[in-house]
Amino acid sequence: MEVVVWPDPRLLKRTAPIERIDDEVRARVAEMWRLMYADQGVGLAAPQVGWSVRLFLMNPTGDPTRKDEERVLINPQLKRKAGRVVGEEGCLSFPGIYVEVERARHITLEWTDLDGAKHEADWSDWPARIIQHENDHLENVLLYHRMSAAERMQHAEALAELQRAFEEA
Ligand SMILES: [Zn+2]
Repeated sequence: MEVVVWPDPRLLKRTAPIERIDDEVRARVAEMWRLMYADQGVGLAAPQVGWSVRLFLMNPTGDPTRKDEERVLINPQLKRKAGRVVGEEGCLSFPGIYVEVERARHITLEWTDLDGAKHEADWSDWPARIIQHENDHLENVLLYHRMSAAERMQHAEALAELQRAFEEA
């Protein structure tokens, strides 16, 4: 398993709900944690490792010792959004590119955890931003799609570099 970088088409494959949480799912999630921390990420969605299912992980602190901050969010559903806030986002599938993205400030999310328990919680600010970013991946919406025309121009060189790297690989 490796982090899939834009413009790899696996980032745009339709995602399926997880029907059963078994050893294979748990093993893949463990590998995703390893990859996320190796790249200093705070979130990672399954399509970013070429796995087209509705699952992502996050640790808003990015600190691997903060196990209490780790969440595995399976079949998540955004129930409510409120407020608007603009902030900078990066993405492990767009290394080195940072974009200003407008997101809801507060959200309510339903999800299933790795033990199969259902949850509903309110999130605000940074964790709410991570959740909306990772949830975008499940809908095949990428940082590229969130860029303004001006940002695509600004990052044209970096995007062309990623395109070259993909074609050469
Ligand atoms: Zn991302």
